[in-house]
Amino acid sequence: MQDHSSLVNQLGIVCPSPEQPLLSNAGVEVFVKRDDLLHPVISGNKWRKLQGHLYQALQNNTKQLISFGGGYSNHLHALGYCCFKLGIQLIAIVRGDYTGQLTPMLEDLMQWNAQLQFVIKQEYKERNSTEYLQNLQQHFPTATIIPEGGSDPLALEGMGNLLKELENQYDYMVCPVASGATLAGLAKGIVDLNLKTKILGIAMLKGEAYLEELVGKLLPQKIPVPEIIHDYHCGGYAKSPDYLQQFCSEFTHNTKVPVEPVYSGKMFYAVTQLIEKEYFPAGSRVLALHTGGLQGARQKESS
Ligand SMILES: *Cc1c(COP(=O)(O)O)cnc(C)c1O
Repeated sequence: MQDHSSLVNQLGIVCPSPEQPLLSNAGVEVFVKRDDLLHPVISGNKWRKLQGHLYQALQNNTKQLISFGGGYSNHLHALGYCCFKLGIQLIAIVRGDYTGQLTPMLEDLMQWNAQLQFVIKQEYKERNSTEYLQNLQQHFPTATIIPEGGSDPLALEGMGNLLKELENQYDYMVCPVASGATLAGLAKGIVDLNLKTKILGIAMLKGEAYLEELVGKLLPQKIPVPEIIHDYHCGGYAKSPDYLQQFCSEFTHNTKVPVEPVYSGKMFYAVTQLIEKEYFPAGSRVLALHTGGLQGARQKESS
Protein backbone atom coordinates (compact mmCIF):
# COMPACT_ATOMS: atom_id res chain seq x y z
CA MET A 1 0.00 0.00 0.00
CA GLN A 2 1.17 3.51 -0.74
CA ASP A 3 1.97 5.65 2.26
CA HIS A 4 -0.13 8.78 2.09
CA SER A 5 0.77 9.92 5.61
CA SER A 6 2.94 12.89 4.59
CA LEU A 7 0.12 14.11 2.34
CA VAL A 8 -2.32 13.66 5.21
CA ASN A 9 -0.04 15.71 7.48
CA GLN A 10 0.62 18.40 4.93
CA LEU A 11 -3.09 19.02 4.41
CA GLY A 12 -4.06 18.60 8.06
CA ILE A 13 -6.48 15.73 7.47
CA VAL A 14 -7.96 14.10 10.59
CA CYS A 15 -7.12 10.45 10.10
CA PRO A 16 -8.83 8.22 11.05
CA SER A 17 -12.11 10.14 11.10
CA PRO A 18 -14.30 9.50 14.19
CA GLU A 19 -16.59 6.46 14.33
CA GLN A 20 -19.52 7.11 16.69
CA PRO A 21 -22.76 5.56 17.91
CA LEU A 22 -25.67 7.59 16.50
CA LEU A 23 -29.01 6.10 17.48
CA SER A 24 -30.74 2.89 18.25
CA ASN A 25 -34.30 2.10 17.20
CA ALA A 26 -36.41 -1.06 16.84
CA GLY A 27 -33.44 -3.25 17.67
CA VAL A 28 -31.24 -1.64 15.03
CA GLU A 29 -28.07 0.12 16.13
CA VAL A 30 -26.86 2.92 13.86
CA PHE A 31 -23.33 4.28 13.92
CA VAL A 32 -21.78 7.06 11.89
CA LYS A 33 -18.36 7.43 10.29
CA ARG A 34 -17.76 11.17 10.54
CA ASP A 35 -15.93 12.00 7.33
CA ASP A 36 -17.50 15.44 7.68
CA LEU A 37 -14.89 15.98 10.41
CA LEU A 38 -11.93 15.05 8.20
CA HIS A 39 -11.14 18.65 7.43
CA PRO A 40 -12.80 22.08 7.77
CA VAL A 41 -12.57 22.78 4.02
CA ILE A 42 -11.99 19.50 2.18
CA SER A 43 -15.32 17.70 1.90
CA GLY A 44 -15.17 14.13 3.29
CA ASN A 45 -15.60 11.76 0.41
CA LYS A 46 -13.89 14.15 -1.99
CA TRP A 47 -10.71 13.69 0.06
CA ARG A 48 -11.12 9.92 -0.08
CA LYS A 49 -11.51 10.02 -3.84
CA LEU A 50 -8.71 12.54 -4.42
CA GLN A 51 -5.94 11.24 -2.18
CA GLY A 52 -4.62 8.77 -4.75
CA HIS A 53 -4.61 11.44 -7.46
CA LEU A 54 -2.82 13.94 -5.22
CA TYR A 55 -0.27 11.40 -4.07
CA GLN A 56 0.48 10.51 -7.66
CA ALA A 57 0.79 14.20 -8.61
CA LEU A 58 3.34 14.74 -5.84
CA GLN A 59 5.27 11.59 -6.79
CA ASN A 60 5.42 12.71 -10.43
CA ASN A 61 6.18 16.32 -9.49
CA THR A 62 3.12 17.43 -11.46
CA LYS A 63 2.65 21.20 -11.40
CA GLN A 64 -0.74 21.39 -13.08
CA LEU A 65 -3.96 19.45 -12.61
CA ILE A 66 -7.11 19.78 -14.68
CA SER A 67 -10.56 18.73 -13.57
CA PHE A 68 -14.25 19.33 -14.18
CA GLY A 69 -17.36 20.31 -12.27
CA GLY A 70 -20.41 22.54 -11.93
CA GLY A 71 -20.44 25.95 -10.28
CA TYR A 72 -21.29 24.41 -6.90
CA SER A 73 -18.95 21.43 -7.15
CA ASN A 74 -17.65 20.01 -3.86
CA HIS A 75 -15.08 18.15 -5.94
CA LEU A 76 -13.54 21.24 -7.58
CA HIS A 77 -13.69 23.02 -4.25
CA ALA A 78 -11.81 20.27 -2.38
CA LEU A 79 -9.31 19.84 -5.21
CA GLY A 80 -8.76 23.62 -5.47
CA TYR A 81 -7.89 23.84 -1.79
CA CYS A 82 -5.53 20.84 -1.92
CA CYS A 83 -3.77 22.18 -5.00
CA PHE A 84 -3.33 25.58 -3.33
CA LYS A 85 -1.78 23.96 -0.26
CA LEU A 86 0.45 21.66 -2.31
CA GLY A 87 1.69 24.30 -4.75
CA ILE A 88 -0.05 22.79 -7.77
CA GLN A 89 -2.00 24.88 -10.24
CA LEU A 90 -5.59 23.81 -10.84
CA ILE A 91 -7.28 24.42 -14.13
CA ALA A 92 -10.98 24.06 -13.38
CA ILE A 93 -13.27 23.43 -16.32
CA VAL A 94 -16.64 24.69 -15.14
CA ARG A 95 -20.01 23.91 -16.70
CA GLY A 96 -21.75 27.20 -17.48
CA ASP A 97 -20.65 30.83 -17.56
CA TYR A 98 -20.37 32.38 -14.10
CA THR A 99 -18.51 35.52 -15.21
CA GLY A 100 -19.55 38.34 -12.88
CA GLN A 101 -21.70 36.05 -10.73
CA LEU A 102 -19.32 33.62 -9.07
CA THR A 103 -20.74 31.12 -6.58
CA PRO A 104 -19.11 30.96 -3.12
CA MET A 105 -17.23 27.82 -4.23
CA LEU A 106 -15.90 29.51 -7.38
CA GLU A 107 -14.89 32.56 -5.34
CA ASP A 108 -12.87 30.29 -3.07
CA LEU A 109 -11.26 28.71 -6.13
CA MET A 110 -10.19 32.15 -7.36
CA GLN A 111 -8.71 32.87 -3.92
CA TRP A 112 -6.75 29.66 -4.21
CA ASN A 113 -5.27 30.74 -7.56
CA ALA A 114 -7.19 28.24 -9.67
CA GLN A 115 -7.66 29.10 -13.31
CA LEU A 116 -11.36 28.93 -14.15
CA GLN A 117 -12.47 28.04 -17.65
CA PHE A 118 -16.17 28.39 -18.25
CA VAL A 119 -17.54 26.14 -20.97
CA ILE A 120 -21.03 25.81 -22.39
CA LYS A 121 -23.03 22.69 -21.58
CA GLN A 122 -22.40 21.15 -25.00
CA GLU A 123 -18.66 21.34 -24.59
CA TYR A 124 -18.89 20.10 -21.01
CA LYS A 125 -20.64 16.98 -22.26
CA GLU A 126 -17.43 16.07 -24.09
CA ARG A 127 -15.45 15.88 -20.84
CA ASN A 128 -14.88 12.12 -21.08
CA SER A 129 -14.42 11.80 -24.84
CA THR A 130 -10.98 10.72 -26.04
CA GLU A 131 -10.72 13.42 -28.69
CA TYR A 132 -11.63 16.24 -26.32
CA LEU A 133 -9.18 15.00 -23.71
CA GLN A 134 -6.38 14.68 -26.27
CA ASN A 135 -7.01 18.25 -27.32
CA LEU A 136 -6.98 19.45 -23.75
CA GLN A 137 -3.73 17.60 -23.12
CA GLN A 138 -2.14 19.28 -26.14
CA HIS A 139 -3.13 22.65 -24.72
CA PHE A 140 -1.66 21.80 -21.32
CA PRO A 141 1.11 19.30 -22.13
CA THR A 142 2.48 18.94 -18.58
CA ALA A 143 -0.90 18.77 -16.83
CA THR A 144 -2.58 15.66 -15.46
CA ILE A 145 -6.30 15.38 -16.14
CA ILE A 146 -8.56 14.11 -13.35
CA PRO A 147 -12.10 13.11 -14.36
CA GLU A 148 -15.17 14.82 -12.88
CA GLY A 149 -15.59 13.89 -9.22
CA GLY A 150 -12.14 12.24 -9.34
CA SER A 151 -14.16 9.17 -10.19
CA ASP A 152 -11.85 6.48 -11.56
CA PRO A 153 -9.90 3.45 -10.23
CA LEU A 154 -7.58 5.66 -8.11
CA ALA A 155 -10.66 7.06 -6.36
CA LEU A 156 -11.79 3.55 -5.47
CA GLU A 157 -8.46 2.92 -3.72
CA GLY A 158 -8.94 5.94 -1.47
CA MET A 159 -12.45 4.88 -0.55
CA GLY A 160 -11.09 1.44 0.28
CA ASN A 161 -8.67 3.02 2.76
CA LEU A 162 -11.68 4.18 4.77
CA LEU A 163 -12.60 0.58 5.49
CA LYS A 164 -9.12 -0.08 6.89
CA GLU A 165 -9.77 2.60 9.53
CA LEU A 166 -12.88 0.97 10.98
CA GLU A 167 -12.59 -0.12 14.60
CA ASN A 168 -15.75 -2.22 14.68
CA GLN A 169 -17.62 -4.63 12.47
CA TYR A 170 -20.97 -3.86 10.91
CA ASP A 171 -23.69 -5.78 9.12
CA TYR A 172 -24.47 -2.87 6.80
CA MET A 173 -22.70 0.18 5.59
CA VAL A 174 -24.78 2.91 3.95
CA CYS A 175 -23.61 5.77 1.71
CA PRO A 176 -25.13 8.35 -0.65
CA VAL A 177 -24.82 7.78 -4.41
CA ALA A 178 -24.37 10.46 -7.10
CA SER A 179 -21.51 9.62 -9.49
CA GLY A 180 -21.26 6.24 -7.79
CA ALA A 181 -17.51 6.22 -7.06
CA THR A 182 -18.02 6.29 -3.31
CA LEU A 183 -20.28 3.26 -3.46
CA ALA A 184 -18.02 1.47 -5.95
CA GLY A 185 -14.97 2.11 -3.76
CA LEU A 186 -16.67 0.65 -0.71
CA ALA A 187 -17.92 -2.35 -2.70
CA LYS A 188 -14.41 -3.06 -3.96
CA GLY A 189 -12.86 -2.48 -0.54
CA ILE A 190 -15.20 -5.00 1.08
CA VAL A 191 -14.11 -7.67 -1.38
CA ASP A 192 -10.40 -6.74 -1.16
CA LEU A 193 -10.48 -6.89 2.64
CA ASN A 194 -12.74 -9.92 2.76
CA LEU A 195 -15.31 -8.23 5.04
CA LYS A 196 -18.85 -9.52 5.53
CA THR A 197 -20.48 -6.07 5.62
CA LYS A 198 -23.32 -5.49 3.16
CA ILE A 199 -22.90 -2.22 1.28
CA LEU A 200 -26.05 -0.23 0.55
CA GLY A 201 -26.31 2.89 -1.62
CA ILE A 202 -28.98 5.58 -1.36
CA ALA A 203 -29.65 7.35 -4.68
CA MET A 204 -29.46 11.14 -4.36
CA LEU A 205 -31.05 11.63 -7.76
CA LYS A 206 -33.59 9.99 -10.03
CA GLY A 207 -31.43 7.35 -11.64
CA GLU A 208 -32.83 3.87 -11.50
CA ALA A 209 -30.71 1.54 -13.72
CA TYR A 210 -28.48 4.49 -14.72
CA LEU A 211 -26.73 4.61 -11.33
CA GLU A 212 -26.26 0.84 -11.23
CA GLU A 213 -24.65 1.11 -14.66
CA LEU A 214 -22.30 3.90 -13.54
CA VAL A 215 -21.20 1.90 -10.51
CA GLY A 216 -20.79 -1.23 -12.65
CA LYS A 217 -18.53 0.64 -15.08
CA LEU A 218 -16.27 1.75 -12.22
CA LEU A 219 -15.95 -1.72 -10.73
CA PRO A 220 -13.80 -4.62 -11.92
CA GLN A 221 -16.09 -7.16 -13.56
CA LYS A 222 -15.87 -9.78 -10.83
CA ILE A 223 -17.20 -7.43 -8.15
CA PRO A 224 -21.00 -7.25 -7.93
CA VAL A 225 -22.80 -3.87 -7.93
CA PRO A 226 -24.27 -3.31 -4.45
CA GLU A 227 -27.96 -2.68 -3.89
CA ILE A 228 -29.04 0.92 -4.49
CA ILE A 229 -32.28 2.18 -2.93
CA HIS A 230 -34.11 4.62 -5.19
CA ASP A 231 -37.01 5.65 -2.96
CA TYR A 232 -35.47 8.65 -1.20
CA HIS A 233 -34.17 11.10 -3.82
CA CYS A 234 -36.98 13.39 -2.59
CA GLY A 235 -37.79 14.65 -6.08
CA GLY A 236 -34.33 14.66 -7.62
CA TYR A 237 -30.82 15.97 -7.31
CA ALA A 238 -30.47 18.90 -4.85
CA LYS A 239 -34.24 18.98 -4.37
CA SER A 240 -35.11 19.61 -0.75
CA PRO A 241 -38.84 19.55 -0.07
CA ASP A 242 -40.13 20.88 3.27
CA TYR A 243 -40.33 17.44 4.92
CA LEU A 244 -36.65 16.85 4.15
CA GLN A 245 -35.61 20.25 5.48
CA GLN A 246 -37.60 19.61 8.63
CA PHE A 247 -36.00 16.20 9.01
CA CYS A 248 -32.54 17.74 8.66
CA SER A 249 -33.08 20.35 11.37
CA GLU A 250 -34.67 17.83 13.77
CA PHE A 251 -31.90 15.33 13.08
CA THR A 252 -29.17 17.86 13.81
CA HIS A 253 -31.01 19.04 16.91
CA ASN A 254 -31.39 15.48 18.27
CA THR A 255 -28.03 13.99 17.34
CA LYS A 256 -25.75 17.07 17.23
CA VAL A 257 -24.52 15.80 13.86
CA PRO A 258 -24.76 18.57 11.22
CA VAL A 259 -26.30 17.54 7.88
CA GLU A 260 -27.38 19.28 4.67
CA PRO A 261 -30.25 18.22 2.42
CA VAL A 262 -28.30 17.47 -0.79
CA TYR A 263 -26.39 14.41 0.47
CA SER A 264 -26.02 13.56 4.14
CA GLY A 265 -29.49 14.70 5.26
CA LYS A 266 -31.11 12.69 2.48
CA MET A 267 -29.11 9.62 3.39
CA PHE A 268 -29.98 9.79 7.09
CA TYR A 269 -33.60 10.39 6.14
CA ALA A 270 -33.46 7.18 4.11
CA VAL A 271 -31.82 5.27 6.96
CA THR A 272 -34.52 6.26 9.45
CA GLN A 273 -37.27 5.41 6.94
CA LEU A 274 -35.67 2.02 6.21
CA ILE A 275 -35.59 1.23 9.94
CA GLU A 276 -39.29 2.03 10.20
CA LYS A 277 -39.97 -0.25 7.26
CA GLU A 278 -37.96 -2.99 9.00
CA TYR A 279 -35.54 -3.21 6.10
CA PHE A 280 -32.73 -4.07 8.53
CA PRO A 281 -33.31 -7.25 10.58
CA ALA A 282 -33.50 -6.65 14.36
CA GLY A 283 -30.04 -6.84 15.92
CA SER A 284 -28.34 -5.31 12.87
CA ARG A 285 -25.44 -2.95 13.28
CA VAL A 286 -25.54 -0.28 10.61
CA LEU A 287 -22.75 2.18 9.80
CA ALA A 288 -23.79 5.31 7.88
CA LEU A 289 -21.04 7.22 6.09
CA HIS A 290 -21.30 10.98 6.60
CA THR A 291 -19.64 12.15 3.39
CA GLY A 292 -19.35 15.80 4.43
CA GLY A 293 -20.52 18.46 1.99
CA LEU A 294 -21.37 21.02 4.62
CA GLN A 295 -19.48 23.75 2.79
CA GLY A 296 -21.96 23.20 -0.03
CA ALA A 297 -24.81 24.12 2.32
CA ARG A 298 -23.81 27.75 1.93
CA GLN A 299 -26.10 27.59 -1.08
CA LYS A 300 -28.93 25.22 -1.65
CA GLU A 301 -27.58 23.65 -4.79
CA SER A 302 -24.28 21.78 -4.87
CA SER A 303 -22.65 19.00 -6.84
C1 LIG B 1 -19.96 14.25 -4.20
C2 LIG B 1 -20.64 13.88 -2.93
C3 LIG B 1 -21.34 12.67 -2.78
C4 LIG B 1 -21.53 11.71 -3.91
O1 LIG B 1 -20.46 10.84 -4.06
P1 LIG B 1 -20.29 10.00 -5.41
O2 LIG B 1 -18.99 9.32 -5.26
O3 LIG B 1 -20.28 11.02 -6.53
O4 LIG B 1 -21.44 9.10 -5.55
C5 LIG B 1 -21.88 12.39 -1.54
N1 LIG B 1 -21.76 13.25 -0.51
C6 LIG B 1 -21.12 14.42 -0.63
C7 LIG B 1 -21.06 15.33 0.54
C8 LIG B 1 -20.55 14.79 -1.84
O5 LIG B 1 -19.93 15.98 -1.95
